[in-house]
Amino acid sequence: MSNRSDYLVIGAGISGAAVAAELAEIGSATLVEMEERPGYHSSGRSAALYTPNYGPASVRAIVAASAEFYRNPMPGFVDHPLLTPRQAMSFVPAGFEAKIDEAMAVATPATPLQEISPDQACKLAPLLKREAVARAVLDPHVMDMDAGAIHQGFLKLLKHRGGQTFTDHRITALERKGSQWHATTSSGAQFAAPIVINAGGAWADEIGRMAGMRAIGLQPMRRTAIIIASDPVLAPPTMPAVDDGATEAYVKLDAGRLMASLGDATPSPPCDAQPEDLDMAMIVDWLERNTHLTVKRIEHSWAGLRSFVADHCPVVGFDRAGDGFFWLAGQGGYGIMLAAALGRLSRSLIENDRIPADLAARGLSAANLSPDRCRL
Ligand SMILES: Cc1cc2nc3c(=O)[nH]c(=O)nc-3n(C[C@H](O)[C@H](O)[C@H](O)COP(=O)(O)OP(=O)(O)OC[C@H]3O[C@@H](n4cnc5c(N)ncnc54)[C@H](O)[C@@H]3O)c2cc1C
Repeated sequence: MSNRSDYLVIGAGISGAAVAAELAEIGSATLVEMEERPGYHSSGRSAALYTPNYGPASVRAIVAASAEFYRNPMPGFVDHPLLTPRQAMSFVPAGFEAKIDEAMAVATPATPLQEISPDQACKLAPLLKREAVARAVLDPHVMDMDAGAIHQGFLKLLKHRGGQTFTDHRITALERKGSQWHATTSSGAQFAAPIVINAGGAWADEIGRMAGMRAIGLQPMRRTAIIIASDPVLAPPTMPAVDDGATEAYVKLDAGRLMASLGDATPSPPCDAQPEDLDMAMIVDWLERNTHLTVKRIEHSWAGLRSFVADHCPVVGFDRAGDGFFWLAGQGGYGIMLAAALGRLSRSLIENDRIPADLAARGLSAANLSPDRCRL
């Protein structure tokens, strides 16, 4: 099989799907995925939370721009709300009280946090043991995101705009010949395009190397999560997501169950991340020390990779060394929130070498995101 298009996007996670859908409006776009379905890796393994006070300033600016799309997507994107109110509450045990001041100080002015009393915290989240809470803060701006619907929405939009998605095609070689990139896949198929977008998630540096680019220093970090039975008295449907500001562990409602994680970040090579027994045992231990829950059974568990470069901001832009080689990597723990605005921003950089005006007005510049900054 041989396929030619204007844009070849590698990786059908949420980032690749969003940028391919954007590019399909200005040319022919092909999206290639090594797994048998899009979203098998990080995009299908997130906590699906919209947290506008999380991450460095550039991330928050892009997240705020994405939210405008998620709140009001174009007609036909999905038939139900993508963001629904959830709130998040952060508590700290005695000895860590200063962390609450730190969190309040770094909150974005447009989305301020509110300190609440330990008693109010336990009222909002009855599962918490009162003695675990010395101070607490509420983030009323946190929302549940329908990550699956967002991803499917972009894939559907790509198709609607005439783009093609190929799964089960692992790109194993990338070569620039004349005006085109030529990609070979494990199945022997060939893809060619003048512009390649590297949206390979944890594999982005590997894909860059294939094309002869210098690494951006991407580090995938494993995070493990478990699902356990809920209890409507201890975790009423209105309960905010609850996180421990001292350790970063968290627990939240997930379709009538509870999802919990240590908030761990263990360096890993790019791989099909799997949960480790020790991490799961530590999540259960955290839950039983801080909440009234008794974990009888872990119903489901998974691990996923969050991939960061040194400054924890995404890497978006053409590589100076590679004619038509575009990076869209390093979405870390924010990739679902970022996807809509990053897709639009990537299109604008590819089409006219410009940051969209609304994102520039939020203080973003091409230099903030450029692959070159990772190599200084
Ligand atoms: C436990 C956990 C909780 C998270 N919680 C949140 C959250 O609450 N909110 C949020 O916004 N984000 C969250 N994230 C982060 C978010 O999931 C990621 O930032 C996002 O999914 C990254 O998307 P991606 O498309 O860049 O990567 P991926 O989804 O990993 O997609 C990359 C794709 O590239 C493909 N690929 C790689 N190499 C090749 C190749 N050679 N040929 C073809 N295809 C290839 C892979 O198979 C993969 O499908 C969380 C992540 C984890 C693990």
